[in-house]
Amino acid sequence: MTSADNRLAERSARLSRLAKRHPQAAADAANATAKVRYLRGEASEHTCALCAAPAAEWELTFLDQREGPRFFLYSDDVYDYMPYCAPCSLDAEQVRWKALRRIWGE
Ligand SMILES: [Zn+2]
Repeated sequence: MTSADNRLAERSARLSRLAKRHPQAAADAANATAKVRYLRGEASEHTCALCAAPAAEWELTFLDQREGPRFFLYSDDVYDYMPYCAPCSLDAEQVRWKALRRIWGE
């Protein structure tokens, strides 16, 4: 596996553990993403916002209207999400955490 594959597998395992502990929060975030897919299409119908490769997933990118607990943030505004390919989604997540730490004063 490449290091991106490892990081993606790690993230997936982490999110599964968190979803088991916080099922309602995970469901709220999943529903918000389902709404994005319904109104804007599958991420795979778009190109990655960062590198223009075929996108693989929608990620919350604009943080003004975020809701939910910190590990399952979501937005009801489908335009707060951007499509990313898998490797770039990891980078986007890092940028998002950096921004959130600033917002939260950490
Ligand atoms: Zn990309």
